Amino acid sequence: MPSTPELQYTVGKAAGFSGTALHTGEKVTLKLHPAPVDHGIKFRRKDLQDEPTIDAKIENLKTVERATTIGEGTVRVHTVEHVLAALSAMGVDNAVVEMDANEPPIGDGSAQAYVDLIRKAGVMPQEEPRKFFNVRDIMHVESKTGALLVLLPDEKFRISCTQAGPNNQFAQFLSMEVTPAVFEREIAPARTFVHYEDVKPLMDKNLIKGGSLENAIVVRGEAVLSKEPLRFADEFVRHKILDIIGDLALVGRRIRGHVVAVKPGHASNAELARSIAREQTRRSAMATPRAVPSGDGGLDTDQVMQILPHRFPFLMVDRIISFETETKCVGVKTVTINEPFFQGHFPGHPVMPGVLQVEAMAQVASILLFKLAKTTSRIGYFMSADEVKFRKPVLPGDTIFIHAELTKSRGERLAKAKCHCVVNDAIVSEAELMFTFLDK
Ligand SMILES: [Zn+2]
Repeated sequence: MPSTPELQYTVGKAAGFSGTALHTGEKVTLKLHPAPVDHGIKFRRKDLQDEPTIDAKIENLKTVERATTIGEGTVRVHTVEHVLAALSAMGVDNAVVEMDANEPPIGDGSAQAYVDLIRKAGVMPQEEPRKFFNVRDIMHVESKTGALLVLLPDEKFRISCTQAGPNNQFAQFLSMEVTPAVFEREIAPARTFVHYEDVKPLMDKNLIKGGSLENAIVVRGEAVLSKEPLRFADEFVRHKILDIIGDLALVGRRIRGHVVAVKPGHASNAELARSIAREQTRRSAMATPRAVPSGDGGLDTDQVMQILPHRFPFLMVDRIISFETETKCVGVKTVTINEPFFQGHFPGHPVMPGVLQVEAMAQVASILLFKLAKTTSRIGYFMSADEVKFRKPVLPGDTIFIHAELTKSRGERLAKAKCHCVVNDAIVSEAELMFTFLDK
C-alpha cells in the first residue's frame, strides 16, 4: 500500500475478474490496467467499436438514479461508484478500467471484489506528485430530500456520516479518516441496501435484473432480508460512506477535508463533487504570479512583441504568465479606461467589445502556434471562431486572464484552439478558434 502519499500511484500490473452486471443482468469482465501519471481513471468499453474511453470526471456525470452513470458522446458506463471508491481509497490515481459491458460486475454489492482485484494487481508509485484539493472555505450542499453535505477544512480526508431510513429507522452514525487500511477493513465489505418499497419500481423500470439477495440487503420495515447476515451492525452507514468516496472520486483530485454527511445520496454527493470541481477551476484560473519571474517559461511584453506583429492599440495581450504544457498557456491583459475603444463603446457606459476578447484569445493561441511551429517561414492566420460566448461584460480596470489550449492540429495546415477569458474568478467569454498556416 502507498507509503509516500505525495506521489501518484497506478496498478502494478493488469488484473481482472468476471461477474454479473446489476442492472442489465449480463455477464461482464472487468480488467484494471496501469496508466501513466496525470491520466486519472478512465473506463474503456472493450465491447464497442474503437473501444471508446470515458474519463471518470464529474463533467461526464450523466445520471444519479440509484447509481452513478458517466458518459461521453453516446457511450455510457453505469454504477461506477463502487469501483471508483475502491481505486480512490486504496490509493490508485491512474488506471484504465476496461469492461466488455456498460456496467461493472456487482460482486456481492460491496467494494470487496474491487479491493481484492487491486490487491491482485498491486499498486505502484509513479514519479509525479499527487494532486490535492485542499478545502479552504466551508462548502455545503443541501437537497429537498433531506440530504445535507458539509465540507470542512482538514489536513486529512475524513468522512462523518449519519444515515437514517424512513421514520428514522436504522439511524446510524460513523466517523473516520479514510485510509487504505481503514477502507479495506471497515468500508469495502459493506453491501448495498435497498428498501423493499423501492425494489418493485426498479424492476418495473427494467433495472436491477442482476439483483438478488446475494448482492444487496433488502430492508422491509424492521426486517433485514439478505442471504448472509449483516457484516456490521451499522452496515448501512458504512455503505453510504463507500458511495461518498466513489462519487467524490469524480473530482479527479485527492481531497484534504472533512465531509460531514446527513442522509447522503448519489445526487447530493455528485452536487458536492461538482462544487469542488468548480472551485478548483476557479483556483486554477487565479493561480497567477504577481510578476513574471525570469526562466519560468512566461513571456514579458518585449518577448510577446517579438513573436506577435500586433502593436498598440491592437496588441491584446500584455504578457504570458505561464505555459502549462507545450499546448496550453495563460496570457494576461489589463484593461484600462485609456483603451481607445472605450471612447466609442460606449460613451458613458464603457464595455470592452466582445470581438476584441476573441482577438485576445487568437493572439494568445498564436503564441502557442508560434512556439510549436518548426519553421518561422509560415504564419498562422485566424480562420474561424466557433462556440463563441460572451458571458459577462469586461469593464475598465479589469484584468483578463486569457487561457488558450491547442486541441487539434490537423496535418500541416490547420490548428484548433479552445480558449476562454477569466475576470474576477468568472469566465467572461469563450471560443473555439481555427487557424490555417500560410507561407509568409
Ligand atoms: Zn453503493
